[in-house]
Amino acid sequence: MTRLETLAVHAGHSPDPATGAVSPPIYLSTTFAREPDGTLPHGFLYARNDNPNRRELEIALAALEGGAAALAFASGMAATAAVFQSLAPGDHVVAPLDAYYGTAKLLRDVMAGWGLASTLVDMTDPDAVARAVTPRTRLVWIETPSNPTLAVTDIARVAAIARAAGARVVCDNTWATPVLQRPLELGTDLVMHSTTKYLGGHSDLTGGALVAAAENDWTARLRTLQTLGGAVPSAFDCWLLMRGIRSLPWRMRGHCENAAAVAAFLAAHEAVEVVHYPGLGGDPGHAVAARQMHGAGGMVSVQVKGGAPAALELVRRVRLFTRATSLGGTESLIEHRASVEGPESRTPPGLLRLSIGLEHADDLLEDLDQALRGGYCPASASG
Ligand SMILES: *Cc1c(COP(=O)(O)O)cnc(C)c1O
Repeated sequence: MTRLETLAVHAGHSPDPATGAVSPPIYLSTTFAREPDGTLPHGFLYARNDNPNRRELEIALAALEGGAAALAFASGMAATAAVFQSLAPGDHVVAPLDAYYGTAKLLRDVMAGWGLASTLVDMTDPDAVARAVTPRTRLVWIETPSNPTLAVTDIARVAAIARAAGARVVCDNTWATPVLQRPLELGTDLVMHSTTKYLGGHSDLTGGALVAAAENDWTARLRTLQTLGGAVPSAFDCWLLMRGIRSLPWRMRGHCENAAAVAAFLAAHEAVEVVHYPGLGGDPGHAVAARQMHGAGGMVSVQVKGGAPAALELVRRVRLFTRATSLGGTESLIEHRASVEGPESRTPPGLLRLSIGLEHADDLLEDLDQALRGGYCPASASG
């Protein structure tokens, strides 16, 4: 039982021994009874430390990524914060210039004051990573494909550079999911997920996860930060996430198929300046993506001609796409990222990020077509 579809359905899950229930119960209890001799018959003590739904989920997450252990958190950012907190003041982190904005903001606004230094580099350039590494570097943080420009980092190459420098390597695998990309097999020590996105898959839970290649001192330290920091997911969120995971491999096929159709349509449209999608032959990340990914994913970013005004007009005109942040759900979303990220944003002002859902591809294309046609006026468009 090692194929991903089968693991997604079965890992961490079997009929409830007490009742035969095929769908697992949700264990809301915060505390667990001891035997007269003080022992805990099932190993559960208190819900912040561990609970049955979280244990099932952590088994499933480890199986999906091919890791030795997994730790579930209340959000992706809680998982990220635990990784940074596992380091010591004076340590140095190398992270991508286009990391998820919350990751970069956490390093700058919180961890810097705590004494954790960081350097942000263009990770698509392995030489830049090699130059940024110092004797104090303890961690290299990879995120690929990146948000929102879908830049692709060569995981194996960057992991080798980090390893040679004695630093650990983490990959934020939120956008690719274990279905499309296997960072632990490419040499990273840890995978991080915002399970809020594709793993949950239905825009109805917030969660995060770390999956470790090995059980070691670092994993133990991360578990201490998980249970003592207390940013742990509720039993219900664990249950919802288990339910989402069961269909993950099949949902990813649909997301990839639809996103490829949308990317090809946009790339051929006269109102479009550039499409960022590693599945397109001309994309700068295409060659590396073709080597390290099993599909280009469900996220597409597009820059329309006419900059921010034209982009905002397109967003105003869509009917089927929902104007909302986040990604990875069954419904298609569209967002003007620069507006969300604020004045410090490095995102091109005309860029729109699309999370391609599981609607029929033709309906998505028709919606984009009518929205682009309405908003585009060749005579006034510039650049
Ligand atoms: C959403 C996201 C995060 C943060 O996760 P939350 O669950 O919102 O805390 C981190 N990395 C990436 C790539 C994301 O898309």
